[in-house]
Amino acid sequence: MKLTDGFGRNITYLRLSVTDRCNYRCVYCMAEDMTFLPRAQVLSLEESAEICATFVELGVDKIRITGGEPLVRRDIDALFRQVGQLPSLRELTLTTNGSYLAKYASHLHSAGVKRINVSLDTLDPEQFQELTRFGQLQEVLDGIQAARAAGIERIKLNAVILKNRNFSQVLPLVEFALQHDLDISFIEEMPLGQVSEHGRQEEFCASADIRELIQGRYPLLPTATTTAGPSRYWQIPGRDNLIGFISPHSDNFCSSCNRIRVTAEGKLILCLGNEHSLDLKAIMRRYPGERERLKAAIVAAMGNKPEKHHFYEDDAPQIVRFMNSTGG
Ligand code: SAM
Ligand code: SF4
Repeated sequence: MKLTDGFGRNITYLRLSVTDRCNYRCVYCMAEDMTFLPRAQVLSLEESAEICATFVELGVDKIRITGGEPLVRRDIDALFRQVGQLPSLRELTLTTNGSYLAKYASHLHSAGVKRINVSLDTLDPEQFQELTRFGQLQEVLDGIQAARAAGIERIKLNAVILKNRNFSQVLPLVEFALQHDLDISFIEEMPLGQVSEHGRQEEFCASADIRELIQGRYPLLPTATTTAGPSRYWQIPGRDNLIGFISPHSDNFCSSCNRIRVTAEGKLILCLGNEHSLDLKAIMRRYPGERERLKAAIVAAMGNKPEKHHFYEDDAPQIVRFMNSTGG
């Protein structure tokens, strides 16, 4: 069975959020003062595992566990173990802020996680604390080292670049990636949720500007490499490291979209830039154990996946969800 949307795109990649909570409050992701979901509204780990199993039966072969910060969820290692055993799942991965990697890296590796994304926007400890509001750079650096030591093969840094804050960190981050055998993707900020510290449009930094800065120091060649996600990759000749750009504004990647998301409260989101959703938790709680019913609802929902995202209309941001509630 395959999931295909109304534009002929095959859906093979699920991003599942396991919590909307986080130990950080990155300035582009959350407001300082956040209200999180009551626990009863969040999917249980068993429900999350059931959703993964259902999507794998529908042809999904890549699952990314995300959040909020997925590693703040209690007993999250049990979910990784269970999902890692699903037959025909090609890749199980996660996106993390890295702060709890030292604790979980070996659990992740033994569950079959081979590649991970770690968010890191700056190598300056003070700026790191400002951007994350609560974070300590060293715990992330230790986490990256622990992931390497545990045998996780490929680690990619994700950096959101804000023009007037951490643009000067682009080259240090590239150098860090080259030194430590990491890949890196630079992300254009998306207007998800109302943030207080900066205007999204003043801070907008286009991927092309970042690439130009890097090209002033290193030759960069485009590659055909894909990791079944939205990054477009470039490489420095003679180096293995991938340097990616996720450009939701400047280089719309919707035509090749193969992704859907499930939020921490069990809503199937068909597109990050639209509000269409289907309440999977309601179906599971009303009809426990009826996987075929869940599958039928998911298949039917594919018809609502929009052709492309629209973040702005008449200059006003459209989407009210914060990234932490949708899952990055
Ligand atoms: N807590 C984990 C982390 O930070 O990696 C996983 C969840 S986080 C929401 C996933 C990714 O989304 C991170 O790389 C983060 O930098 C990115 N992100 C958060 N808010 C964003 C926004 N408004 N625009 C673009 N990327 C954003
Ligand atoms: Fe937390 Fe990740 Fe959002 Fe930062 S980007 S506040 S680490 S969920």
